[in-house]
Amino acid sequence: MALTAERRDARVFRLREFAHQEAQTDRTVASALVRSRDPLGWLPDGVPTVLVRRALDGYASDGGVLLMESYPGTPNQARSLVRDLSRLGCRGGLIELAAPESVLLNRIQQRLVCAVCDPRRRRPAQPRLDEPGRCDSCGTELERRANDAPTVAARRLDRYQRYAPQTLAVLQASGLVCHTVDSTQAEPLLIAAALSAFRSLAPVHPSLPRKGIARDNRFLTDAHV
Ligand SMILES: [Zn+2]
Repeated sequence: MALTAERRDARVFRLREFAHQEAQTDRTVASALVRSRDPLGWLPDGVPTVLVRRALDGYASDGGVLLMESYPGTPNQARSLVRDLSRLGCRGGLIELAAPESVLLNRIQQRLVCAVCDPRRRRPAQPRLDEPGRCDSCGTELERRANDAPTVAARRLDRYQRYAPQTLAVLQASGLVCHTVDSTQAEPLLIAAALSAFRSLAPVHPSLPRKGIARDNRFLTDAHV
């Protein structure tokens, strides 16, 4: 989803990466990152909401498309986001990639990344057919993300299940267009369904220059573990 968004001139917002970027010039954010005692590294709601406001002001308020990956994560974050969208006159939408818990756990257990092809370790690597522990593209030994270690993954899933229903309810009640995509379907079908949802929320007219892509401001969120 993020790759597609970037190819379509959209910005991708990842809270943790944005927080580290802002911490270089914002001492409050830097101190919140250092002080966080949360086992998953989550920041108190006040910090993400300020950062999201900053990202919306910077990227979405001039007619751009901002894809927020795995955000909002709590009902409070969702309420704050809805208020900010309204204040800025942004049009928003939600794409939920849904799968049963057993599928999510299995995916996390199987997921390996390549530190050479993908230094930020965002995407699952394609393993070699004859040597599944190595990257098919460059031959480097694949590794598991720290976030996917079994105890951390169980905590992430637990938190997602605790907050997701209420977070979705806040977004749906606000009138945002919500698409649920079955993420257990075969990959080509899943990509087609996610793209179709993305296009319906952020249509691009090829003959328009980049600044003219979106007459309304748009915001998208893509919720998954
Ligand atoms: Zn590689």
